[in-house]
Amino acid sequence: MGMMTSKDYRESLKLLKPEIYYMGEKVENILDHPAFVPHVNAAALTYDMAIAPEFEELTSATSHLTGQKINRFTHIHHSHDDLVKKVKMLRAIGQQTGSCFQRCVGHDGLNAVYSVTYDIDQKKGTGYHKRFVKLLKEIQARDLMISGAMTDPKGDRSLPPSKQKDPDAYLHIVQRKTGGIVVRGAKAHITGAVNSHGHLVMPTTSMTADDADYAVCCYVPVDALGVIHVFGRQTNDTRKCDCMLDQGNVEYGIVGGEALIVFDNVFVPWEHVFMCGEYEFAYQLVERFATAHRQNYGGCKTGLADALIGATYLLAEAQGTGGATHIREKLVDMVHLAETLYCCSIACSCQGYALPADSYMADPLLANVTKLNVTRNVYEIARLAQDIAGGILATLPAETDWKDPRVGKYVDKYMKGAADVSTETRMRLIRLLEAMTCGTALVESMHGAGSPQAQRIMIWRQANLEHKKRLAQKLAKIGEQPFLVC
Ligand code: SF4
Repeated sequence: MGMMTSKDYRESLKLLKPEIYYMGEKVENILDHPAFVPHVNAAALTYDMAIAPEFEELTSATSHLTGQKINRFTHIHHSHDDLVKKVKMLRAIGQQTGSCFQRCVGHDGLNAVYSVTYDIDQKKGTGYHKRFVKLLKEIQARDLMISGAMTDPKGDRSLPPSKQKDPDAYLHIVQRKTGGIVVRGAKAHITGAVNSHGHLVMPTTSMTADDADYAVCCYVPVDALGVIHVFGRQTNDTRKCDCMLDQGNVEYGIVGGEALIVFDNVFVPWEHVFMCGEYEFAYQLVERFATAHRQNYGGCKTGLADALIGATYLLAEAQGTGGATHIREKLVDMVHLAETLYCCSIACSCQGYALPADSYMADPLLANVTKLNVTRNVYEIARLAQDIAGGILATLPAETDWKDPRVGKYVDKYMKGAADVSTETRMRLIRLLEAMTCGTALVESMHGAGSPQAQRIMIWRQANLEHKKRLAQKLAKIGEQPFLVC
């Protein structure tokens, strides 16, 4: 019990037996499988950084439940300072990994469920919050990694859960028993799912009384009977299996190792059920989770951008263009774009507020603005990195050709840039830029924490446009007595 190290975390995963499939095969041990190792490494770093003296002020916290020192990824925010520290922590970890470290989704889920169970109990006289606090204490004490399993497959997007042709398009309750409930359905794109200890299942949309069986929130261990994981493919993922240098970010990979989680008639005991039919609270849970996760994106993505900007500058130097004025201008633009995202995340944290459960959440409008900016700024940062890198980003010969006895010497000779930088260094930087700006990495910035349209809907709801109209009416003297003109 207590805070884990990365070694403890890996040992704890060995004790679990989750059902996982990837590329047509059942995977028995993710710790030995090259497709999974980078994602485990990234999550593992969240454990070591929580106890590292130079980071622990950001990466650890004091439990309000037990007074014990805990990993911040299991902490419930109780102040603006907690919200700001979360953002700073994500930037600090992102700088080290250059990739998603996954643990934030469950952290945001814990905070959302903590506050919403309190609200349900206040209105309905249920006992969800007490149950949830019991689980939370265990998660904090054992330093568990929890996935935030929110997004349903959704089927026909024009229809609500209860009107879908396939009733399993959204996860739902199929049976209520004396000891608990049985759920069926799936959750898609779930970050860090296969290397988590358990899944925090939450509804994904607002609901009506017809959807009551879909309004379910519960905790399910990763290896519970009937839970099946299908690991997603990524751009260039076969490189994980047959090369090192060409992977770009060998240690931490690209994005968060997302998986489809199937819940095939999974039994959940009552002690792990935190919403069971209270459809009127589904939207509240979605909004609080989404706000918390969108708050993050100017933290982790800025950390990644710091590493990307560094790689871009190094590559420019390796190619002899580091001192060119137009390169410096573009690097300034990259920094400007990244720091704008950071400003957004810090601002929505500082504008956060206390909820009835006495926990804190970020300002929803500013958090959604943060994430919507990420869907643009990260692409622009990537575009500038690719502009500076040159076409070699798309045409660099393979690591195996660089090592080939016949053509290796030619690859080394003609792929060299500035005389004082080795070809290997240039190749490594090109591959890192490729990994961080091509394919999967960008899609994650667009759709992670919800697609842009989801942010637009929340911005529309939060923007208080009626107030803005009244401001204009006042200035234009609309509806007032006209001034007397002498
Ligand atoms: Fe955390 Fe960022 Fe990954 Fe989301 S995308 S889980 S906020 S590192």
